[in-house]
Amino acid sequence: MPMVSMRQLLDEAAQGGYGVGAFNVHNMEQIQAIMEAARATSSPVIIQASRGARSYTNDRFLYHLMMAATELYPEIPVALHQDHGNSPETCKSAIDLGFTSVMMDGSLEEDGKTPASFEYNVAVTREVVEAAHARGVTVEGELGTLGGIEDGVGSGEVHLTDPDQAVEFVAATGIDALAVAIGTSHGAYKFSRKPDGEVLAMSLIEEIHQRLPETHLVMHGSSSVPRELVDEINRYGGQMKESWGVPVEEIQRGIQHGVRKINVDTDSRLAITGAIRKHLAEHPSDFDPRDYLKPARAAMQQVIEARMTAFGQAGHAGDYEPIPLEEMRERYRTGALA
Ligand SMILES: [Zn+2]
Repeated sequence: MPMVSMRQLLDEAAQGGYGVGAFNVHNMEQIQAIMEAARATSSPVIIQASRGARSYTNDRFLYHLMMAATELYPEIPVALHQDHGNSPETCKSAIDLGFTSVMMDGSLEEDGKTPASFEYNVAVTREVVEAAHARGVTVEGELGTLGGIEDGVGSGEVHLTDPDQAVEFVAATGIDALAVAIGTSHGAYKFSRKPDGEVLAMSLIEEIHQRLPETHLVMHGSSSVPRELVDEINRYGGQMKESWGVPVEEIQRGIQHGVRKINVDTDSRLAITGAIRKHLAEHPSDFDPRDYLKPARAAMQQVIEARMTAFGQAGHAGDYEPIPLEEMRERYRTGALA
């Protein structure tokens, strides 16, 4: 199956009332872990790469690894998404490379750090929508800013999404999906206590969904940071502080209110690191990378399978035929997707 647009995956998810995990990658083992998890659970899936991941893989490796994934897992609908594009140029280069979806994060200026004005955000996002939709590619925008910093992205300040502005932003830009800031953060240290309704503004999602029932909502910084994964790292020599992520039940509540894409990166990193630490601690004379990369890959697969099941995407891989990007382009042109 060729890569599909993220818009199609999210439209199908909305119809089926489930969410789709968007998992970050920067190497072969991670892509394999995700595709194996998708096969085991029969899930459609979004694979995403940040700017840092694109530079780490030098783009071409990433692209060809994704081509291998679509060849080897023809039954799995998969979208390739640019995570946190910092400028129209970054998004356009991703589209040229073959990404089927891009995020224009105009909530921050091009440095990926300074909170931007609403007008700037509308202007750059609109520019990307025009370029992307002309090629059938999906666009995610962001309004409000998350806490934390990851891959050099983030202002460190939290500005919750304003529902009135969200309505105006979607109308002015024509985006397919909107990332909302509800108090989550990037990275492993999201909350210093178990988050409840007060630190995690889930009611905001409900309000935005009521106002924008046709817009797919996106939750960033949505790793759950399971205690057992952090404990495993620390048991074998790691030094991670205690932390709480976004509880899976809260994500499921979001899915009931229009959340269709859930970004998960930290949980994969934790699973990989814990497995490698454990293996090397227990087998100090091993030196073949495959000896520890195999359990690392398996540990990541296990986490991804659990998320796919929890988000509800499991079992939906065979529900639909992929719509080619050229057909998506036609649908944007005729206003069928507006
Ligand atoms: Zn993010």
